[in-house]
Amino acid sequence: MDLTNYFGNMVFNDAVMRSKLPQDIYKALKKTMIEGKALDLNVANVVANAMKEWAIEKGATHFTHWFQPMTGVTAEKHDGFIAVDGNDKIILEFSGAALVRGESDASSFPSGGLRATFEARGYTVWDITSYAFVKDGTLFIPTAFCAYNGEALDKKTPLLRSMEALDKQALRITHLFERHYKNIATKRIITTVGPEQEYFLVDKDIYLKRPDLIITGRTLFGAPPSKGQEMEDHYYGSIKPRIAAFMKEVEEELWKYGVAAKTKHNEAAPGQYELAPIFTITNVACDHNQLTMETLKNVAARHNLACILHEKPFAGVNGSGKHNNWSMATDAGVNLLEPGETPFENAQFLLFLTAIIKSVDVHQDLLRVSCASAGNDHRLGSSEAPPAIISISLGDELTEILTAIETGERYQNKQPEELEIGVTVLPHFPKDTTDRNRTSPFAFTGNKFEFRMLGSSFSVAGPNIVLNTAVADTLMEFANILEESKSFKSDLVKLIRKTLSAHKRIIFNGNNYSEEWLNEAERRGLSNLKNTVDALPKLIERGEVFTKHGVFTEQELQSRYEILLDNYAKTIHIEALTMLDIVKLQIVPAVLKYQNELANLIDKKKADFDSSLERYFLKNISEESASLLTKMLDLQELCNESKPTAILESAKLYSDKILPAMLDLRASADRLETLMSKEYWPLPSYGDLLYSVI
Ligand code: ADP
Ligand code: MG
Repeated sequence: MDLTNYFGNMVFNDAVMRSKLPQDIYKALKKTMIEGKALDLNVANVVANAMKEWAIEKGATHFTHWFQPMTGVTAEKHDGFIAVDGNDKIILEFSGAALVRGESDASSFPSGGLRATFEARGYTVWDITSYAFVKDGTLFIPTAFCAYNGEALDKKTPLLRSMEALDKQALRITHLFERHYKNIATKRIITTVGPEQEYFLVDKDIYLKRPDLIITGRTLFGAPPSKGQEMEDHYYGSIKPRIAAFMKEVEEELWKYGVAAKTKHNEAAPGQYELAPIFTITNVACDHNQLTMETLKNVAARHNLACILHEKPFAGVNGSGKHNNWSMATDAGVNLLEPGETPFENAQFLLFLTAIIKSVDVHQDLLRVSCASAGNDHRLGSSEAPPAIISISLGDELTEILTAIETGERYQNKQPEELEIGVTVLPHFPKDTTDRNRTSPFAFTGNKFEFRMLGSSFSVAGPNIVLNTAVADTLMEFANILEESKSFKSDLVKLIRKTLSAHKRIIFNGNNYSEEWLNEAERRGLSNLKNTVDALPKLIERGEVFTKHGVFTEQELQSRYEILLDNYAKTIHIEALTMLDIVKLQIVPAVLKYQNELANLIDKKKADFDSSLERYFLKNISEESASLLTKMLDLQELCNESKPTAILESAKLYSDKILPAMLDLRASADRLETLMSKEYWPLPSYGDLLYSVI
């Protein structure tokens, strides 16, 4: 395969635009992209026509405004290019207006009360910084989704706003440095993201026998297998041919759409894998990650596999997360978190680093909220994923340097004055000295931060909205101070020192999974929001930073809070009902049948033969089934109870009462599984699921 021609061949990218558009139109479009301005309709018309011609060549008959509603998936409504010309002839049409703006009936998407039902319309606007592409005969136009009054109904709009906020404040900082150190002017600062995506693969025939996986994305029952991940023989193990064929097709598919899928390997749990692309600008990374998740699912189906993106599909083995690698870069491509070689780069790096430390400390609750969901609650805080406590790992070397700066003391053998920022050249931080701590929720890994708390099924939008806004806020504060300064270099040192000493409590390089850290974090006053219901109210309590930077209005925040809580309660409600169905419709009949068989045998054997084995199992199964009945009725009653109307109270009922009742019911069913004949047990076992691909 000629990869250089193949990569992005279904994307209306820069090279295509340059070749298909008149030069002045191309220039106008590029200018709009770089400056983030609205597109002139005359330009849009020419672009739309070129895009249509190109898309038709690629086999497209339809176009869609592709958007990301607040439910976390992507949405699309397809329209044909076709129009009739009055002579019963079909013509193919696509106007600039249809390109830049689409109308959509928004009434069935959750909006958390943002959009009155009488005004059901929303509209989608082309995010021209994310390229259009052709997939399955349709031209996909990445868009943002708003209500008529401009309120954001999606995740993309606030993400773009947060990138703008960071751009604005970070530029003030780079301009200060540029004024004092060298004469260049950065025009734009973007944030970059490379998300590492974890997932499970299960043979589809086996998957289809698990209604819990199909309906809720995770197993609600299942006794532990005789072999889990204790042998640690899956991580980075050789990839089985059937999986390799699947991965190859995923990559080929993604490359066509311009997603630079780069690394792939087996993950920690049996049946678990990871894919990572090369990083790119955040809004595009977000689109690409949505496309990646969709592609994983679609390609899996073609290989008779099921791809599971849930955070915790199997109890007792590792769940799946998403590592959000994040940095900031200038329009010249300079990574602002690269320690650099010159005093100028060093000083600037240290200021940005200090800003991030402060931002993560001050906004730890919001970062925690951005990773909260019913699915992720099963991971965070158990010893496989970062704890629910936010902290930063910098590695020992960088921490020592920061300590030396803060205290003005010696760093290794160097004299303190040599450490004065802007004078010393910082040592390079090779990846292996910074990346050792895999337990940290927020780790510096050489030239970027890795935010590791995201769940595997998340859109990266939410966590990056928080990260960008939090950092923008600190940078604004820093810029306000430094722009007034009469003595930039010494005020810079003072600011860094003061900030480090106020916020160093957030730095922790040790084992985040340990019991001692829980105590230590509490002593340091770090927050520990254990689950989604604990975390979500912080979105409102601490949300002022979003309104301050124009990322969310108060109403938009309130709507997101309500949607997230509602989503949490609904997720658990559906899981509970699914459990009850499986118990009543599948487990109970199987248990009765098997008991009947045992009882018949005992009856037939009468006193003539020994029936101790049959009796042993019949007795234990009978006892356990009585317990199953009690647990089932308990859960049923809780589900039937009328719920508090206050949405937070209702969500609390799910976390405090219903989830534990589900666990009780599961424990009883799992014990039965170990007592029953496999032939009679209605669900494929954990062993069947985890080792289904041979
Ligand atoms: P790993 O963490 O698996 O050892 P890497 O550190 O090389 O692998 O990269 C992990 C992810 O981080 C990749 O998606 C990579 O593209 C991304 N990444 C690397 N540099 C940056 C950056 N400056 N900004 C954002 N993401 C980055
Ligand atoms: Mg990583």
